[in-house]
Amino acid sequence: MAKKALITGLTGQDGSYLAELLVEKGYQVFGLVRRSSSGNLDRISHLSDKVQILSGDLLDQSSLMDVITESSPDEIYNLASQSYVPLSWTQPALTAEYTALGVSRLLESIRRCKPDARFYQASSSEVFGQPDESPQTERTAFRPRNPYGVAKAYAHWMTVNYRQKYGLYSCCGITYTHESPRRGTEFVFRKITLAAAMIKLGMSHDLKLGNLDARRDWCYAKDAVHAMWVMLQQDKPDDFIIASGETHSVRELVECAFRCVGLDWENYVSVDPAFYRPDEAVQLIGSIDKIGKQLNWQPQYSFEQLVELMVDHDLKRLSEK
Ligand code: NAP
Repeated sequence: MAKKALITGLTGQDGSYLAELLVEKGYQVFGLVRRSSSGNLDRISHLSDKVQILSGDLLDQSSLMDVITESSPDEIYNLASQSYVPLSWTQPALTAEYTALGVSRLLESIRRCKPDARFYQASSSEVFGQPDESPQTERTAFRPRNPYGVAKAYAHWMTVNYRQKYGLYSCCGITYTHESPRRGTEFVFRKITLAAAMIKLGMSHDLKLGNLDARRDWCYAKDAVHAMWVMLQQDKPDDFIIASGETHSVRELVECAFRCVGLDWENYVSVDPAFYRPDEAVQLIGSIDKIGKQLNWQPQYSFEQLVELMVDHDLKRLSEK
């Protein structure tokens, strides 16, 4: 019989790639989707006949219990959250409701309705905040520096606690930034690759950025969701860092994106201090030793390949308009 998986955050970047992966692997896939008056199914429209959508919200415990009872999943992937760090400063309480307490509600629903389901929690490198070591490992202390990171740290420890207290198969993937053509344009990687494509096509003329020397550990969302699935196939639940294991600066990203469209970035890019992030995280780089050794996972796409595939995607999409 086909395995069943429930994905929260199905309509998001990771949810859509994970659904594709699980459908390919022969799973029966259910997605928890909250109601939206304007529709939010763009990223999964190509999967509409392959994924069963169930209505629910991380803010509503009874909806979570109903969805878990109805789908009776073998695996549950919690990818839903308020995922944009700057917004967590203007909506800190709502961020905690979704990203922290939402996970409590979900874990409690699993414990009551389907305690043998395997659970993946989307933890984040933002739990490390201003880390005191680099690269970070699964043992690095959490020092979150924004409401999003604080909420993710709470969710992380609740997931670990439900494993220890109730014996749930629950584990956390501490993902570093991961990108794709389905990433929101408010995130700097997509903002840059999209701008390079638009400037090439004459649809825009310049690009304003913050700190060009900021460095990030970026990988491809498809690589990240593969790691999530591998984590739930192990005999014992455990927590792993999911990252590329290397950092690149925003400057390198800009150079690479504009090289892909045959332009000199210095003619188009200017620095605007208004875009500096006040809580700029330093030296966030994940050690992938543990996941490499124990799960034999490593990213399949390089930084340059990721930039190129995102620029190409936007060039093609915008040219078709
Ligand atoms: P995303 O594109 O922003 O998607 C977030 C998803 O959460 C959307 O499907 C959204 O639904 C859903 N959601 C938000 N609030 C909800 C609620 N109250 N009830 C039910 N669903 C709700 O995020 P992503 O990039 O795919 O990231 C997936 C997960 O990994 C998130 O938890 C994120 O915090 C974490 N993470 C991501 C990264 C990264 O670089 N992408 C790095 C570290 C951690 P709507 O469509 O209705 O808005």
